[in-house]
Amino acid sequence: MHPNGSASAPASWSVEVVYRGIFQKRLANRISRGVVLGARREGKVGTAFARYGDSPERNGIPSKNFAVVATDEVELESSLARYEPERVEISIVVDDTMSKGVESWAWYGVQPINKLVVPGGFLLVTSDKEPEELLKAIKTKPYDYTLVVVPSPVHAGVFAPEGSASFAGLWVDNDDNTDWNCLAAVARVAPQVVSLDTVLTLVRERTKDEARVNAVKANYDQLKIRPVNAGEGSSTSFEEYQKPGWTQMREGIIVEAQQVGTRNPLYKKWSTRTRRPLVNFDTCIKCTQCWLQCPDECFEVTPEGTYEVVYEACIGCSICEEVCPVPDCIVMVNELAFDDNDSLYAVYKADPEAYRAFLQKHGVPLHPELVEKAKKTAAVHDVQERKWPVTVAGGEE
Ligand code: SF4
Ligand code: SF4
Repeated sequence: MHPNGSASAPASWSVEVVYRGIFQKRLANRISRGVVLGARREGKVGTAFARYGDSPERNGIPSKNFAVVATDEVELESSLARYEPERVEISIVVDDTMSKGVESWAWYGVQPINKLVVPGGFLLVTSDKEPEELLKAIKTKPYDYTLVVVPSPVHAGVFAPEGSASFAGLWVDNDDNTDWNCLAAVARVAPQVVSLDTVLTLVRERTKDEARVNAVKANYDQLKIRPVNAGEGSSTSFEEYQKPGWTQMREGIIVEAQQVGTRNPLYKKWSTRTRRPLVNFDTCIKCTQCWLQCPDECFEVTPEGTYEVVYEACIGCSICEEVCPVPDCIVMVNELAFDDNDSLYAVYKADPEAYRAFLQKHGVPLHPELVEKAKKTAAVHDVQERKWPVTVAGGEE
């Protein structure tokens, strides 16, 4: 039977797990393998695999694992004849900031997070947000589907409250139940794939901890299930990309260099980001550390000699926050609070007071005691004195 209960029952079910490269890789493996393990216990067949194009991964890059479950071997093999599933009954997303869209290492351009979800299918997102809030970021579909929010465990002192991606499995046994909670959510929306009883049995066998079993069951009961009608969601437009066939490709694998002072207009990189840096232009002392140390060369110098972030290129690594010598001059905040990549320096120039209020709204301390000091920054830092280009090409572009 189809997960949506329709009469046109597929004999196989495809599940994708969308995760942040490297630090959520083990978590994604555990979810996709757990789907297959549970289904096999119930007499079905299945297999789990990673998307070939997502390896080698880069930290934070959106990547995908898949699980395919079928009623028999023949159905499974016919499902696996494709390079990767083009449609999935269930998509599991383990960082809610990816709701805005993802550009994977296997370059397809930025794509909607629910791109593969079939009519009547399910989009499962681990989050501490309400479905309505996530829907503002999730691209509309021309048909109905269901959004399910899997409540995030509290990552006290690790990543909360700004950015709630789970680190489960990154270090030895730093486990917060996210894998089990996602499996239980699959059981809730598609018990034909795996049942709750089987999931709880797996938890009991693996953890030998009845408290963990009860916690997973409690999370199952607290799932937020929100039917989404055709046309509901974000109207953000995504560019369509056509992969050239091999007969259309040029000889050799040529990646043309970018001209100095330009960035690759097609390689956006922003969907790698869970958090984004905000710059306090009032307290910037023009020391250039952010400009020098950013691995993706995302900083541009402003007419005043301070530095602004080009958000389409920023991967959210937070190195700039670490190297900036001025307290809270660069602060990382939750990416989900933003719906575009527009220049924030332009906002500052148009209305500095409004920009300060904006920083405070995002929890950035203003440090007015440092403003005068920044104004006295030595002239050697002024843009007119520079001996290097004021714009740069991105690092890997
Ligand atoms: S250093 Fe800062 S601006 Fe550069 S990619 Fe990392 S977070 Fe973005
Ligand atoms: S590191 Fe901080 S103080 Fe230095 S130029 Fe960048 S934003 Fe300004």
